[in-house]
Amino acid sequence: MPQIIDGKEISTAIKEELKIEVGKLKEENIYICLAVIQVGNDPASSVYVGNKKKACAYIGIDSLSFELPEETTQEELLKLIRDLNEKKEVNGILVQLPLPKHIDEDEVIRAIDPKKDVDGFHPQSVGALCIGQHGFVSCTPAGIIQLLKRSGIEIAGKECVVIGRSNIVGKPMALLLLRENGTVTVAHSRTKDLKEVSKRADILVVAVGRPKMITKEYLKEGAVVIDVGIHRNENNKLCGDVDYDDVAPVCSAITPVPGGVGPMTIAMLMHNCVEAGKAQ
Ligand code: NAD
Repeated sequence: MPQIIDGKEISTAIKEELKIEVGKLKEENIYICLAVIQVGNDPASSVYVGNKKKACAYIGIDSLSFELPEETTQEELLKLIRDLNEKKEVNGILVQLPLPKHIDEDEVIRAIDPKKDVDGFHPQSVGALCIGQHGFVSCTPAGIIQLLKRSGIEIAGKECVVIGRSNIVGKPMALLLLRENGTVTVAHSRTKDLKEVSKRADILVVAVGRPKMITKEYLKEGAVVIDVGIHRNENNKLCGDVDYDDVAPVCSAITPVPGGVGPMTIAMLMHNCVEAGKAQ
């Protein structure tokens, strides 16, 4: 049976480490504060925002909550972000995505001061990652690197295939694996022979957003499989982009859904908040 990469356990360990660090910072009168903005009341977003606030409370990070109505204008939202950029006591600003259709997400992300961009979505953060400079890294791919490292899986010199090229998962994931000296291939919806490409992988990261798409036919025996997808199946149970039962017997290590990549995203957000607080 493969090694099960336990995201719950690893994210808990990270949160415990951060809790100790935040406690020490408080002794030096350094308090960390995250501003969380939600526009509208999409139920899934409300759950994510609630979980982020809970994690802040657990670690000892203050959180300021801004719950704005669906009809908030772009200008109103930008003004709030500008005000929070100026506030010294706010270290991180998080705008929960997706935003209502009448708001330009790119402009909103660009309005966040890169020093407070704890989601790592600002073009300056992405550019810094691209050229190997210090900056905030998108939380889900940063969490995946932690999953691999803390599970004793070597990245350097490995064939890494990332399926998916989104700005928040696929692209930063590829850049991070490259930074760790992996040999990286990015596959996507226009890749010609996906099975042939994904079979090259020693480490396969799947972020396609299609339930159970990846079966054992896509895998080299002994590959490490990281499943980023989150879906509800026909029985309302959570499942990933990988067909876990089919793939598990042929891989050497795998992340389950739930309990794999999911819990790492918030842990890395907390990590970014602590880094923001320390840098400011
Ligand atoms: P996205 O829809 O923005 O991107 C999907 C990517 O997959 C695209 O680049 C596309 O080219 C590629 N793709 C689509 N169909 C394909 C196919 N048939 N063959 C090859 N490539 C294909 O999605 P995303 O935001 O990157 O998210 C991917 C999945 O990860 C979703 O299920 C999402 O819910 C999940 N997710 C989980 C977390 C977490 O914290 N665990 C965070 C972000 C996203």
